[in-house]
Amino acid sequence: ELADTDAFVAKQKPWPAGHPVPYASLVSTFTLIETTSKRNEITTHLTAFFLMVIRLSPQELLKTVYMCINRLCPDYVGLELGIGESILEKAIAESTGRSLAKIKTDLRKEGDLGLVAMMSRNTQPTMFKPKALTVSSVFAKLTEIAQVAGNASQAKKIGIINSLLAASVDMEPKFIIRSLEGKLRIRLAERTVLVAVAWAMVLRDRGSKKRSKEQFTKELEDGANIVKSVYSELPSYDRVIPALLDGGLAGLKERCKLTPGIPLKPMLAKPTKAIGEVLDRFEGRKFTCEYKYDGERAQVHRSDDGTVKIFSRNSEDMSVKYPDLIEQLHKCVKEGTSSFVLDAEAVAIERDTARLLPFQELSRRKRKDVKAEDVQVKVCLFAFDLLYLNGEPLLHKDLASRRQLLRRHFQPIAGEFSFAESSDGSSTEEIQSFLDESVKDGCEGLMVKMLESDASFYEPSRRSVNWLKLKKDYLSGVGDSLDLVVVGAYHGHGKRTAVYGAFLLACYDSDAEQFQTICKIGTGFSDEALQQHYHILKDSEVEVMRSDIAPGQAKPDVWFTPKVVWEVLAADLSLSPVYTAAQGAVEERGVSLRFPRFIRVRDDKTPEDATSSAQVAEMYERQALAQSKGSKKRRGD
Ligand code: ATP
Repeated sequence: ELADTDAFVAKQKPWPAGHPVPYASLVSTFTLIETTSKRNEITTHLTAFFLMVIRLSPQELLKTVYMCINRLCPDYVGLELGIGESILEKAIAESTGRSLAKIKTDLRKEGDLGLVAMMSRNTQPTMFKPKALTVSSVFAKLTEIAQVAGNASQAKKIGIINSLLAASVDMEPKFIIRSLEGKLRIRLAERTVLVAVAWAMVLRDRGSKKRSKEQFTKELEDGANIVKSVYSELPSYDRVIPALLDGGLAGLKERCKLTPGIPLKPMLAKPTKAIGEVLDRFEGRKFTCEYKYDGERAQVHRSDDGTVKIFSRNSEDMSVKYPDLIEQLHKCVKEGTSSFVLDAEAVAIERDTARLLPFQELSRRKRKDVKAEDVQVKVCLFAFDLLYLNGEPLLHKDLASRRQLLRRHFQPIAGEFSFAESSDGSSTEEIQSFLDESVKDGCEGLMVKMLESDASFYEPSRRSVNWLKLKKDYLSGVGDSLDLVVVGAYHGHGKRTAVYGAFLLACYDSDAEQFQTICKIGTGFSDEALQQHYHILKDSEVEVMRSDIAPGQAKPDVWFTPKVVWEVLAADLSLSPVYTAAQGAVEERGVSLRFPRFIRVRDDKTPEDATSSAQVAEMYERQALAQSKGSKKRRGD
């Protein structure tokens, strides 16, 4: 369909060139996307729309892309949508003249506030046709709402939402409300948006040269790969979109490189259950083992002008949380080192002995407005990678070289800055004794990393097989802890009736944009912990289950807006007729956790960062494989 660009474009409904993009065009694209679950069709619809934007109103491509991923700016700027249900209900009631009770009843029936808004608005008599909304005007209002703070902020937000709803027609109210909620619910993954931008650029620049279907498919694939790889190194649409419009795909990689001040999504590791598995994976290749510190991921950026910023695993700016780390850092930078990006772990340590303390100590620290002189919990930075140095990205150098540069350009200072402990020994005995040592020193276990060749390049945002984690408690249980979203709860009994007594947990499927239930967890909580969880979760109770939860047969007493993430360990995984995790990926039944045990709250993870259903499927398959190997061994096969 894409190959004949002119025929493809002729099918679209254009607007006058140079005019703002009508919001209605974006909404009809969303509606088309909503009707299909086929990835290629979704990408094609979006490509058509982006191509029109690029041809008719290129200056609006950036905002249009942001509207498609439901964000207003890069993550590190910290301006977010996600307006609470009760504010939205009030706004819909006020702007459509219906009672709050009716809105609530409809929501209970429909399970989607967007639909309720659309129905309420479309049955409302209107005297005159409102001025058409544009992508720019909606984007500006959403930004205004996200920025409202201080006194009477709720009333101000409701006022702006009212004005938006009053100007909306047809399907528009549905998507305005969903944007405000922070979820479009049309299964539009961010990577699809990136691919569609790339395809639209290929079509814009393809010229009239005839090419075969294979050539054309390759052009599309290459374009998508360029944009995905550039975005993973420089995750800022503010930079990438103008650069694309300016010079096209050619040379984009050279024009958009890792830049200090713009955090890249960190490389992540795959779990392993045994040293044997590590050796199988790295067979005959050089690898290194490092301590896996139990702290918080910290990506430290210093720009040419000397500004230092620290970013979290989620690209949040944590500079205000760690002013002491920033102060400490300057002393560790050797002369001749100007700009850099370090990948490191911030770990709480005991002031006098420099003994490493567990993550829980670190999480006691305030997240904002910390003053260096008030800091109670001392933090040491353990650097394990160098991604950028003096104007040059190092992602495509091997780990051995990056590590050499790291050690050459920084100097450790006891209790403030260290290089991650490492050992390049490769026998089972060496790894085992290094693992024991790491645990004795207060770490979670080891990270095992490919050291040489292109397999050791830094892979932003990938959970890569070139980094393996070997945790102390892997050796029993399912191999790794899971980070799960609390989506529901069950009332307590006896003296626990005032709090929740058990919780329903879910993993996340980013393709289906769905939280899939995986287990009920209820044992092992102290009364005090249950009080705390109740206190935190109470506010996210909703009357009807959100439609992005796949409950299976689970029937909790209350449902939550998915917000809170918990780390959980389990004895093993089993197939279940009740839960929906990884359903269809392994078998028709879902996967569930047996004997789940709460470890800690993961407030550094968003619900979308939770363990994915693909990871659950992978864990289940590895367990099945290990069991079949075990039984073969026992039988002596
Ligand atoms: P978890 O923290 O539960 O292991 P995760 O999903 O946050 O899970 P993983 O990829 O599973 O991340 O584990 C890697 C994490 O371990 C990193 O994000 C980092 O915070 C931490 N870490 C500690 N020491 C190291 C090290 N030497 N190299 C890389 N990461 C390390």
